[in-house]
Amino acid sequence: MSGDPTRIAVNGAAGRMGQTVIETATDRENVEVVVGIDVADAETVDGVPVADPDDAVDAFAEYEPDALIDFTVPDATLGIVDACVEHGVAVVVGTTGFNEDQLSYLRRTSEFVPVLKATNFSRGIQVLLRTVSEAVGALDGYDLELMETHHNQKIDAPSGTAKTILETVQEERDVDPVYGREGHAPREDDEIGVLVRRAGDIRGEHELVLAGNDEVFSLSHRAEDRGVFAAGALDAAAWVAGRNPDWYTFGAVIDES
Ligand code: NAD
Repeated sequence: MSGDPTRIAVNGAAGRMGQTVIETATDRENVEVVVGIDVADAETVDGVPVADPDDAVDAFAEYEPDALIDFTVPDATLGIVDACVEHGVAVVVGTTGFNEDQLSYLRRTSEFVPVLKATNFSRGIQVLLRTVSEAVGALDGYDLELMETHHNQKIDAPSGTAKTILETVQEERDVDPVYGREGHAPREDDEIGVLVRRAGDIRGEHELVLAGNDEVFSLSHRAEDRGVFAAGALDAAAWVAGRNPDWYTFGAVIDES
């Protein structure tokens, strides 16, 4: 790898994903985490200094990151992007659970700095999304059911990844989501059941079942370690830093690497 490493700031540095990003970066030569941001009372994570979000502008001036990786909550993401614009820092968003207004704000941010957002930074899920399009398009009329399972601390439901799978299905077929079923609830042809489980420390499991024509076809993915998301986010940060302001996807990173 040639050239200087991409200098990275991590928003949510003390969280599950933030800590994993910092740990994963230590094994890499093309990236260097120079500063963390978090509301948690942590002065350092793995030797990386951590600043309060109120001090983000000063921290960016001092540590000069090229890109920010964000794994927090939507309000915290929106709370830091103005500082990124002020300092020309590319934004890599892994946080999930944004509403439409919040997404619009992020889209506007991409007019000033590059913004790359992915609900899932694993390479396997990106391939699964492409396979979903092909399978749903080819298996017309098959019943569709989507399931996801995550750890018991996850806030948003269904997961951002499940929503992305749902959107991918809906690009191919006009189906309405039915979130769980209870009581007298027979299945309709134009629906997709969406089922959510929360238990233990499960990193993330997603499955799309297509059933019809006396056969059952299932597409599933299981993340075995948070490192897979951290690795993808670091790849994305190294890829997007220094690009023109625009809205980028993780699929583009995979296509070009
Ligand atoms: P977490 O609760 O462990 O960590 C979140 C961190 O954000 C905490 O340390 C918290 O103190 C910090 N935080 C809260 N408010 C803040 C603020 N205003 N400024 C700065 N920091 C603030 O959560 P997690 O498991 O690390 O997940 C974080 C997000 O990432 C969730 O939305 C989750 O769904 C998402 N996620 C995405 C992917 C992906 O591949 N895109 C993978 C895993 C998790």
